[in-house]
Order: sequence, then C-alpha cells, then structure tokens
Amino acid sequence: MSKQDELEHVKEKILTEMKCPLKDAAKNLVFGKGNTDANIMFIGEAPGAQEDEQGIPFVGSAGKELDKLLRSIKLTLDDVYIANILKYRPPKNRDPAVDEIYRHTPYLIEQIKIIKPKIICTLGNYSTKFVLAQFNIPNMKNIDGITKLHGKVRNINIDGMDFKVIPLYHPAAMLYNPNLRAVLAADFLSMELILKDKNSIDL
Ligand code: URA
Repeated sequence: MSKQDELEHVKEKILTEMKCPLKDAAKNLVFGKGNTDANIMFIGEAPGAQEDEQGIPFVGSAGKELDKLLRSIKLTLDDVYIANILKYRPPKNRDPAVDEIYRHTPYLIEQIKIIKPKIICTLGNYSTKFVLAQFNIPNMKNIDGITKLHGKVRNINIDGMDFKVIPLYHPAAMLYNPNLRAVLAADFLSMELILKDKNSIDL
C-alpha cells in the first residue's frame, strides 16, 4: 500500500470510528497536508475556524506565519508534512482537553508512523509535551513548557523510530506576543543549519 493509501485508511477510520464531541460540532475533519515523503513533519495543536471551514491545517493567520517562516529558510509545502494533535476544532479555539488528546492522538501516531519523518518540529506546548513524553499522555505533565524547550534539539526513539525533535513556539503565539517573532525566526535559522548538516540528516 502506498503512503497515500495508508493515510486515506487512517482518515477513513477517523471519519467512521472515532468518537468525540468535537467531531459532532465541527464542520470538517482537519487531517494533514504536505508531502507524505517529507523528512520534516510539523505538529500543531488544533484546527481554528479557517481550518475547520476548509478541512486543511494551517490555512488561517497562524498558517500564513508558518508559510513565511518556512520560506525564510527556503522550505515549501513540498519539503514538509503538517498535522495537528486534534483533528477537529475545539470550540472558540480553546486548549485541547485531556480526553480529547486521548481520543485524537492515536491517529496522529499512525500518521507519524506512515510519514516516517527524520525531524519532527513541534509547534507550541501540547505537541511538544506529547512528543517529548514519547506519546505517553500522563507523562506530558512532567515535560517543561515551550518557553524553556524552544530551539533545543533532542534525539528521540519511539517504537523503533528515530527522529530529531525541534520544539518551536506556535506561530499563533507571536501574533499575540510580537517579541516572539525574533525568537521563532532565530529557531528557524538553527533549524536551517541542522538541515544543512548532512551528517545530522540525510536529506
Ligand atoms: N493552529 C494549529 O495548531 N493548527 C492549525 O491547523 C491551525 C492553527
């Protein structure tokens, strides 16, 4: 089965099997976008209004910022795959609840296992804690917040998969706190150096 077929199968499972009140309230499933053969996977938090409307992650204002940051290090959607912790929009863009993380992340893990990225860039607290807790939700509370972890690269092995994790501030955060713009720009530049290091990642 091709990666596309495998991902379609996961999508179908969300549409047919997954139970969650967010699913009943949302307009669309927001599954993922980008290159399924990419070495770099970005994981955001949850869809907002625009994403819910279109069924595509990062198409609203945070997405526009993410596009700019990617362009600043000469990456495009062809170089990355993007998905979220939550597959349906929480009302008023509130934070994900623990039971929602339990219901939605098994599908995210399936996406990661199909894409097999070499680098996972986590955007914001929820995805950073989820990945650095090695997908163990009760352990998320033991992981530091993004203020402490942003830009610090970790090598992780989960279920036989090896990848680098680069925690980043969520691009939406800099819309509220303009001081974070320079921080995110600097973290993207460090990421560019990592990508250029052929010993570090075979791109
Ligand atoms: N913020 C996210 O975390 N994900 C999206 O898809 C859009 C905004």
